Amino acid sequence: MIEKLENILLHVVQRNPGEVEFHQAAREVLESLAPVLTKHPEFTEHKIIERICEPERQIIFRVPWEDDNGEVQIHRGFRVEFNSALGPYKGGLRFRPSVNLSIIKFLGFEQIFKNALTGMPIGGAKGGSDFDPKGRSHREIMRFCQSFMTELYRHLGEYTDVPAGDIGVGGREIGYLFGQYKRIANRYESGVLTGKGLDFGGALVRTEATGYGLAFFTEEMLKSRGKSLAGKTCIVSGSGNVAIYAIEKVQQFGGNVVACSDSDGVIYDERGLELDIIKQLKEVERRRIKDYAEIQRRAVYRDGGNIWEIPCDVALPCATQNELNGKDAEILVKNGCIAVAEGANMPTTPQGVRIFLDSGIAYGPGKAANAGGVATSALEMQQNASRDAWSFEFTEQKLQQIMTDIHQRCHDTAEEYGTPGNYVNGANIAGFIKVAKAMVAMGLI
Ligand code: GLU
Repeated sequence: MIEKLENILLHVVQRNPGEVEFHQAAREVLESLAPVLTKHPEFTEHKIIERICEPERQIIFRVPWEDDNGEVQIHRGFRVEFNSALGPYKGGLRFRPSVNLSIIKFLGFEQIFKNALTGMPIGGAKGGSDFDPKGRSHREIMRFCQSFMTELYRHLGEYTDVPAGDIGVGGREIGYLFGQYKRIANRYESGVLTGKGLDFGGALVRTEATGYGLAFFTEEMLKSRGKSLAGKTCIVSGSGNVAIYAIEKVQQFGGNVVACSDSDGVIYDERGLELDIIKQLKEVERRRIKDYAEIQRRAVYRDGGNIWEIPCDVALPCATQNELNGKDAEILVKNGCIAVAEGANMPTTPQGVRIFLDSGIAYGPGKAANAGGVATSALEMQQNASRDAWSFEFTEQKLQQIMTDIHQRCHDTAEEYGTPGNYVNGANIAGFIKVAKAMVAMGLI
C-alpha cells in the first residue's frame, strides 16, 4: 500500500483501538485505492478517505428487558450510521452474542460500498445487539425487540435510516420491531424497515434475495469465463437465510450442492442436499443441521467438521466473517475449485483473499456478490413509497438485472484500473468512486 494510504489506515487504527474487524475491512478497501487517488486528486484535497472512515453518527444504548422467568436482562444496542451521501442510511441489524462496536463498524463500512454498487439511492449503516435469540421463546424475542426499538425509533425514518435483518434478525424480529415503531411513532411508515412480512408492506423476493443474488453473481462470473453453474459440484457454508436461498438458486441453475453447515458441524451428501428438509429444520422448526442426517440417512454429519475440505468446483461462504482462512483457501484451490463467491460479509481472511487472487480463480467479494439482499430492500422501499406491490417474477427479474450490472461494473472497473479479473479492486473502486463524487459535490459536511 502506498505511504499516504498507509498513514490514513494507521490513523484509523490508532483512533479506533482494538476494533480488529473494522481495521481489516478498512485495510481491504484502502489497499485498492492508490490508482483512484492518482486519477482523482480532488478526493485527496477534500480528505474523502479520512471522512469515509469516520462514521457520521454512532449510537450505543442500553436494552433492558425481562425474560420468561421474570429475571431482568441487560443487553447493548448499536446503530452505526456510517454514510448518507447516496441516500438514507441503510443496512441490517444483527442479534448475536459476538456483536460489538468493531463488528458493527466493519459491517457498516462494507455496507457503504455495497450499497453504492447496487446503483440504488441508499447510504450505509449497520446495527444490532449482543443479544442471543437462540433458545429464547417468541415472547422473549418480542420483549427484546420492543425494548430495542423503544430507544432506536428516534433515530429512524424512511428518509433517515432504514434497518433490515442480518444474522439473528429475520421476518419474526422485523415484525416485532415494526409493530413497536408504529406504536411509538404513531405513523404507519412502511418504508422505515425492510424485510417486512408480506401482509404489511413486505416485498416478494426479499427473503430469497441475498442467496438468489449470490447465485446470479456466481453465474455471471462463470459466464465471463465461458462456464456455468450447470453440473458443478458446490458447497455452501451456513444454513441460514442466505445459504438456503443460495442453494435453491444454484440447484435451479443445475448445480449439485453437496454440503452445508452450521456453527456446530457439516452435512455432506454426494448425491446432493434436499432443500425441503433444510428449510423445514431451519426455517420452521429452528433446529440444528445435524438433525438433517437423522431424516435423510444417506447424508453424513461431521461434528466440528471443516466444510472447505470437501472437494468442489464452486464454494459459497454464507455463514459469517472470517470463516475461511488461508489454509482453507489453499485446500480449495488445490482441490480444483474454480469459483468462490461470498454470501456472508467478509467471510474470507486477508490471507485467504490473497491466495484466491494469486491463484486466478474467480473470486467474488461479499460487497459485490451478496448485494442482492440490500438491493431488494431498496426495491421494497420503492414499492412502499408508491404504495405498490410487484409480482415475484417482475421483482426477481429486477434483482437479476441488478446483479448482472454489479458484475459488469466490477469487471469493467477492475480492467480500467489495470487489474483485470480482480473483483476485489473492481468492487472497492467502483463503490468508492460513486460515494466520493457525491461527497465532493455536497461540500464539507
Ligand atoms: N444485512 C444485509 C446485508 O448485509 C441486508 C441489509 C438490508 O437489506 O438493509 O447487506
